[in-house]
Amino acid sequence: MQYEFKNKKITVMGLGLFGGGVGVAQFLAKQGARVTVTDLRNASELSPSLKQLEGLPISYKLGGHDEEDFINADMVIVNPAVPKNSKFIQIARNNRVQVDTEINIFFKLCPAPIIGITGSNGKSTTTTLTGKILQETPRMTWVGGNIGKSLLGCLDEMKPADIVVLELSSFQLEELNHTKKSPHLSVVTNISPNHLDRHTNMDEYIQAKKAIILHQGSEDYAILNYDDPELRRWKNDCNGHVLWYSAKQALANGAFIKSNDLVISVNSQNTAIPCVSSVKISGTHNLQNVLAAACAAYLAGARKQHIEKAITTFTGLEHRLEFVREVHGVKYYNDSKATTPKSAIAAITAFTAQVILIAGGYDKGSSFGEFAGACAQHTNAVILIGKTAGKIHELILEKKGKKETPSVCLQKTLEEAFRQATAMAKTGDVVLLSPACASYDMFLNYEERGRKFKDMVQAL
Ligand code: ADP
Repeated sequence: MQYEFKNKKITVMGLGLFGGGVGVAQFLAKQGARVTVTDLRNASELSPSLKQLEGLPISYKLGGHDEEDFINADMVIVNPAVPKNSKFIQIARNNRVQVDTEINIFFKLCPAPIIGITGSNGKSTTTTLTGKILQETPRMTWVGGNIGKSLLGCLDEMKPADIVVLELSSFQLEELNHTKKSPHLSVVTNISPNHLDRHTNMDEYIQAKKAIILHQGSEDYAILNYDDPELRRWKNDCNGHVLWYSAKQALANGAFIKSNDLVISVNSQNTAIPCVSSVKISGTHNLQNVLAAACAAYLAGARKQHIEKAITTFTGLEHRLEFVREVHGVKYYNDSKATTPKSAIAAITAFTAQVILIAGGYDKGSSFGEFAGACAQHTNAVILIGKTAGKIHELILEKKGKKETPSVCLQKTLEEAFRQATAMAKTGDVVLLSPACASYDMFLNYEERGRKFKDMVQAL
């Protein structure tokens, strides 16, 4: 190992609830480091993460940070959620304390090749599916990263012949830039505005995402969505091979759909897998995810039978266009993970039935013009909640002009919105929770929002 952690005084800044903080704290404690975990949140807010660290020799400073932990430390490990301009990171740097991240440590120590998957939407779905295809093959496959599992604790068991599938967020990639490392196989699902409350502007966000290809070598592969206009511009930034995928047209090098065949075309060799009609996850966006996953897994050694089996049995992840139940001919879908306008547009346009949409939530600086246009064109009614409700309401009215539908109204709570949606729905309709916004103004997270919705559907 290039790192020496034993007896080193290491501050983990930001424990969080998504697995990365827990993973790095466990790893460092087991390596014999003297670990201090510090977080702005208090112990009760962090209790699910703290439980996982029980019994380990770790000190805690919760409910705020202490400058001391950033001055007298050998190393500070920063959670990707911590803003770059945090004064505590500055204090560490001013005191020549090494600042690093969980994912950077993983990249430096991982003995196996890495498939890295990023994009504004579809990361978790594509990561999970790529993992499922590779798990059909004899190759030992590890799945983790931003999806909620740190793989640092698995390093001891990993072998060079294994394969790692890592979901990577823009914040993780931004830091990865500093290590000048990129995955061996990089997949980018799409690029649309996201997290503009944290990245200064769209250019900075794109630059952060680009870290996934910028440091690749000539033997590496970039697998990019040809249907995404921004990604088409990335070709000249790629140092290795480029494979494109498209749900809309045939391509000479990459993956595409030809009637019922999913075709993977690499080095002039075509592999056709007759399975498109058996894919269980709906929407064109999910076909794109399937193509990306199939292409990445193929390059890592998966063959026709492995790909076919995994993609025809995968029913999708919870909170992603998840079918909940049909009641009196009305189908209810939970798409609470649609926290961006683009992901909600993908959901709205995935249905041919009349859609009654519940949307709105926390404002993370997204622009809702295109989303409002999609609502005006593809939905029958829109019920809005949360901080962004007023803004979206005005935009939909503007876009729909004199058209009668969709009817648009505001409600104070998800419960009231749900009651209204249920009262409006007729046989054959779809009631869809696809908020286009994060949930933090009204819920702990998107999972809580989705579960509340599902509970109400089950109680009907
Ligand atoms: P991420 O991990 O990037 O947030 P997920 O796979 O968890 O992506 O899906 C998040 C939301 O985006 C869900 O609402 C899902 O239906 C939608 N979605 C999934 N894939 C895509 C895609 N390729 N394009 C647009 N929206 C997508």
